[in-house]
Amino acid sequence: MPKSRFFRLILITFIIAVTISAAYSYEDGFGQAKKIESKYFTIYYAPQLDTFDLAQQLNVGAAERILAGRTARANSSRETELTDMMDTLFLRAGEILDMNLFSYKGIIKICRDKEHLNGIYRKIFNKDLRSPSLYIYTLNTIYICPEDFKIYILGHEIAHAIISNYFVVQPPEKVAEILSGYVEYQLRKVAN
Ligand SMILES: [Zn+2]
Repeated sequence: MPKSRFFRLILITFIIAVTISAAYSYEDGFGQAKKIESKYFTIYYAPQLDTFDLAQQLNVGAAERILAGRTARANSSRETELTDMMDTLFLRAGEILDMNLFSYKGIIKICRDKEHLNGIYRKIFNKDLRSPSLYIYTLNTIYICPEDFKIYILGHEIAHAIISNYFVVQPPEKVAEILSGYVEYQLRKVAN
């Protein structure tokens, strides 16, 4: 390989590495956030939010549990109710997509409000966000705001996470959007 090409390759690799590490080290305002673990997710939520309210809003019911192939829940606390719903939603989205991930662990970050979410998006992508939530593959993180913490909106983003991790080669963005939209459509039917 000629010397100039070799150095160009080194430079490109360096730029990519810096870009990726910048994305990873980005301070998204979750330093003070509370954290809970479910089987499939590590969940961070702004300290002013309450897990009971979030679970009520998400409202993943018994029918979805059965469709996701889960058995009845034993005793639950305020926190396990939310984590249980998240895991049910993960299995349900995988079932709708017919894509089963045998080992998966992702991150869900529930922002303080829309402004918080938009601020994170603007810092990473340098433009305004036009949706209530997003999934960033390189961070394996779903960002969502509490106003839109609904079964079909979170389900849409979980579908993106599943699709991104299911295929070795990432499908085109439009295809991923259609598939996630299909999961959202199915879950909208059960949302109140
Ligand atoms: Zn989408």
